[in-house]
Amino acid sequence: MSIQRADASRADLKSMLPAEIEAFVAELGEPSYRARQIFDWVHNKGVAEIDEMTNLSKSLRTALGEVAFVTRLRLVAQRESQTGQAVKFLFEVPTGERIESVLIVDGARRTVCISSQVGCPLDCKFCATGRMGLVRNLTPGDILDQLIQVSAYAHERGERVTNVVMMGMGEPLLNYDAVVRALYLMRQTEGVGLGGRRITVSTAGYVPGIRKLAHEELNVGLAISLNATTDAVREELMPINRRFKIDDLLEVAREFHQLRGYGVTFEYVLMDGVTDSDEDAVRLAQLTADVPCKINLIPYNELGSESDFRRPSQARLKAFYRALEGAGAEFTVRESRGRDIDAACGQLFDNQEAAVAAH
Ligand code: SAH
Repeated sequence: MSIQRADASRADLKSMLPAEIEAFVAELGEPSYRARQIFDWVHNKGVAEIDEMTNLSKSLRTALGEVAFVTRLRLVAQRESQTGQAVKFLFEVPTGERIESVLIVDGARRTVCISSQVGCPLDCKFCATGRMGLVRNLTPGDILDQLIQVSAYAHERGERVTNVVMMGMGEPLLNYDAVVRALYLMRQTEGVGLGGRRITVSTAGYVPGIRKLAHEELNVGLAISLNATTDAVREELMPINRRFKIDDLLEVAREFHQLRGYGVTFEYVLMDGVTDSDEDAVRLAQLTADVPCKINLIPYNELGSESDFRRPSQARLKAFYRALEGAGAEFTVRESRGRDIDAACGQLFDNQEAAVAAH
């Protein structure tokens, strides 16, 4: 696989839109229905070898193999949480690094949490992925393949993936082209076909990326990780706040609503003694009062013994919710699934030891 990736002369069929595959096979002198067959093999049948595309002639398969390949992640380990509410997948990308994806079970909903980068450059102080730094960007094929493989797993269990959240490792808007291409691919009705607003992109607040995304012909939801109510605190937690302040985020959230007709979600992680005071609750309500948005509170998931942050006590969480309600804000609480297998928000990390343990 890594040899194929290194061979820049070959194109990844998993990263190509239907019209591009059509143009591609036209160059090989083939009619357009061949493109539909290839797309079906890659997206619905999940094959990774061109030779397995048995309704293509042998000569076409040979010709195709010289100019194209199908990227595929190697499944290294898979762990199910004891509650059955989350399954974590550890994948190896063709260049050898590891990423994680999570299948989240919530009622009839089956959501796949997908990674966009190996590591992340943003260095948020409370997030495990931030500790890795940016190792590399994923390709559209790498991003899409997480969905294809987790969907196949769900299918084996007699279930169907209903939603996607780009909330795994990485900052999706800093790998913009690959992520957006993967989103277009996920929406193709001939393939995975995730329509409506069943896809959500989460960003630490990269404003230029948010503006660009709002102009795409993509009906995806947007979540912004706000995580603090003053610039001073936010800057300590999230270095990106040096460039894009809380006011910038509120402004771009209003723009997003104007352009798309629906509001963003502000994610707010509750950390003991850092973001969880009654004053924070009141400020959060005030900041968002005239922004069409939702608020999603995430009680902090601790990162083992080295965790610099703590989850607030149950009593403090309740008090925060009460204060926020009292200040007139509506909100939901995300009780992260999969904490027992380190698959919850902020716990995704390229952890070789965990992979071995999971085997
Ligand atoms: N880079 C994007 C996508 C990652 S999503 C972003 O920042 O939005 C991960 C979400 O989990 C973000 O809202 C982040 O603030 C939150 N998060 C990170 N670490 C966490 C932790 N340890 N506990 C709870 N939430 C965490």
